[in-house]
Formats: sequence, structure tokens, C-alpha cells
Amino acid sequence: MKITLLGTGTPAPSLTRQSSGYLIEVGGDLIVMDHGPGAHHRLIESGYRAVDVGYVFISHLHYDHCMDFARLVLQRWDMGADRIPDLKVYGPAPIARMTELLFGEDGVYGPDIRARIEHESSIFVFEERGGKPPRKRPAPRVKEVKAGDVVEGDGWRVTVGNASHVQPQLECLAFRLDSDEGSMCYSGDSGGVCEGLIELARGCDVAILMNHYFSGGEPTASYRAACGNHLDNAAIARRAGVKTLVLTHFLAQIDQPGVRERIIHEVKQEFDGNVIWGEDLMRLEISRLKEKRL
Ligand SMILES: [Zn+2]
Repeated sequence: MKITLLGTGTPAPSLTRQSSGYLIEVGGDLIVMDHGPGAHHRLIESGYRAVDVGYVFISHLHYDHCMDFARLVLQRWDMGADRIPDLKVYGPAPIARMTELLFGEDGVYGPDIRARIEHESSIFVFEERGGKPPRKRPAPRVKEVKAGDVVEGDGWRVTVGNASHVQPQLECLAFRLDSDEGSMCYSGDSGGVCEGLIELARGCDVAILMNHYFSGGEPTASYRAACGNHLDNAAIARRAGVKTLVLTHFLAQIDQPGVRERIIHEVKQEFDGNVIWGEDLMRLEISRLKEKRL
């Protein structure tokens, strides 16, 4: 089982950190968790293509977590030429509505899709890619999920939990993946010391947690409850008993030499496991993380 960090940034513009995205190779499947702007470019840089991805889990519908979803679906549909199974998509409501508004007959990409299905030149390209007309519309198989739901694939199982973020305006989920090769938990966006997240991450090999800002720098209590900071994350990792903590989703203000080291040092005062400062395209092999302490 391998995890590649596709995007470790925020909604803020950055050339070094794209918005949220994580790629998991497990069993015979390739899974994406979140697909914010830039994450798809990183997916290609990681050596994969949209057609290789079978499953997508979206934690919440903030645009920095789902804007490249459209790119993934359309590129996969276009290159796949009806020769690959439909993409399986899991996320909170209203992700089914979002998908319909993007790819439905009257959707944002409706005219594009119609043109690619009907225009002679597009049919030619489709056939060159191995497709047999009439071409089908993109039809991602979307299932809206909530905390407690379980999704199973080839040798893996994802359990859905709640994050503490911007509810009730947006439903916000966290995911835990278990397999024979190892386990990981991704917080999505989450703040404070979220008890549900501690339970979800219990005993995981890897926990990937939103680390938006430096502890104590929160402007309000509500901000702290919605956005992760390093000392709250250290407490979550310690109480959940995870082996490796991966910090991600950094504001530029804390993504600085000196600040970075101080955060890692302070986390290590509280949490006894490995601590990793996430970077785009960083690749984590679970078996290696199990073998050694960093
Ligand atoms: Zn968010």
C-alpha cells in the first residue's frame, strides 16, 4: 500500500502546493481522496492517468477539495473511450446533484459532451481509441455517504467518519482505509481535538491531518474548531495511537524554515510516533513506515 500526496496546500494560490488530493495504491485498485485544483496535474506527475483511477472519495464540497473532480471525470471518460468501468464516487450530499449539474444533459459540460458524442471528427477519435459508437455519456456512479458507512474494494475497506469543519453549511467527512497491507486515516478538513476523528483513526499506521495554522494563532474559538493546528493534531495522533502523523494543508505563513522545525519539535513533545511534514508528490510506503522510525 502506497500513499502519494497530490496536493498539500490550501485554497490560496501556490506553485509548490496544490490544493487537497491524495492517491492510494492498494490491492489492485487506485483510489483518490479529494481532488482540488492542481491535484490532477500532480496525479499525472506521479505517473498515473485518469483512466487508472477507479474510486474517488470526496471529504467535503469546498472547492479546494473537489474542483479537479470534473477534470478527472471528463479526462477519464475521454481517454477511456467506453473501455473502462464507470468511476465510483463517494462523498457527502449534495455530491450527486453536483455531478448531475456538471455532466447531465443540461449540465455545465452538456454541450461539450454532446459534441464529442455526435460530431464526426470526435467519433473518429473515439474509434481510434478503441471505442465502439454509439458513445455513452460519462456516468460516474455516485453514492452519497455519511458517518458509519463502509465501502469495500479489492482487498480494502473504507469507513466514513465525521470531521469537525464547516457544518452545518457543508457536510464534512473523514475517511479511514483498512487493508491487509496497512491502514490510514485522512481527516479531510478538520479542527480542534475532534473525538470522532480520534475514534476513526484508532491504531492506524498513518494519519493525514489538516494542519492549517500555528497553534494559538486562531482568531476565534470557532476557527479553531474548524481548522487544524499542530498541537491539537499532536493530541489527536497520541490519543488515537497512530504510528505516523502526516501534516498537510499548510498556510504559507507556517510553511517557512524555522516555523516548520518548531512545529515538528513541538508535536514530537506530545506524540511519540513519526512526524512527516507533507510535500506535494511525497510518496509513503506503508510497509517501510512500519519497519522504521523516522
Ligand atoms: Zn474545507
